[in-house]
Amino acid sequence: MRRILILGGTTEARRLAERLAGRPDLAVTLSLAGRTANPVAQPVPVRVGGFGGAEGLANYLAAERIDALIDATHPYAAIIAANAARAARSAGVPLLALRRPPWVAVAGDRWIEVADTGAAVWALGDAPRRVFLALGRNDIAPFVAAPQHHYLVRSVDPVEPPLRVPHASYVIGRGPFREANDHALLMAHGIEIVVCKNSGGDATYGKIAAARTLGLAVILLRRPALPAVPAVETIEDALAWIDHARAPCAEREV
Ligand code: NAP
Repeated sequence: MRRILILGGTTEARRLAERLAGRPDLAVTLSLAGRTANPVAQPVPVRVGGFGGAEGLANYLAAERIDALIDATHPYAAIIAANAARAARSAGVPLLALRRPPWVAVAGDRWIEVADTGAAVWALGDAPRRVFLALGRNDIAPFVAAPQHHYLVRSVDPVEPPLRVPHASYVIGRGPFREANDHALLMAHGIEIVVCKNSGGDATYGKIAAARTLGLAVILLRRPALPAVPAVETIEDALAWIDHARAPCAEREV
């Protein structure tokens, strides 16, 4: 029986685990960082929490006799992606990254791409604006530097303590988010500009489509650089790699 470790926390990781669960030739474990209080149920056994850097992950791979490692974390989870690359190399375990392609602007999109949250704060400008922050609660602290704006913050878990700005509203929600609902949310709060990551995939695209329809600008954080490892974009390709123990596409930077 081959032992597979999936680094997860994404819809794709869960869907891949669903496809592998119950296979008699595989023992699959899914790893979560432990960022959310009530994570979605997973179809395979789960372990939660950091490994202790690349060395800790390498030790885990050896101790658990892992045969293949799948990094199916979020495209902005650059630290664990780098750790996975180093750990897989040092432990001699084949690694595959499962990465969603980024969204691509279409006619009507008014995107402003920035390097990081600090640049997003700057891009909002001096004049007060009504801003939808769809970044997750761990990435919004830099916006206290621009307290003139009114923020609508959406997160999976409550933002505790609240953002130290005079005007902030909070909405709790876990994707997938439908375009119609995001359209209504942006309208109800009189949102003028959206700040988010280029997460890719369908689950959080609703706000992008809604912003386009409403003619709103979107400040998109650029994706971080990720290690050059064998990578695929679809669950089918990940399944093929697992079954053939090779990456179906060439190594490339993702
Ligand atoms: P990160 O910054 O790449 O990782 C920080 C540390 O968290 C890692 O060094 C590792 O700790 C631990 N970690 C991350 N993913 C893990 C996993 N699947 N299993 C076990 N440990 C894990 O990643 P992040 O803090 O999770 O998120 C960074 C950005 O990605 C944020 O913007 C976040 O909103 C976004 N994001 C990430 C995920 C995800 O799949 N991780 C999901 C949704 C959104 P050790 O070094 O101790 O091993």
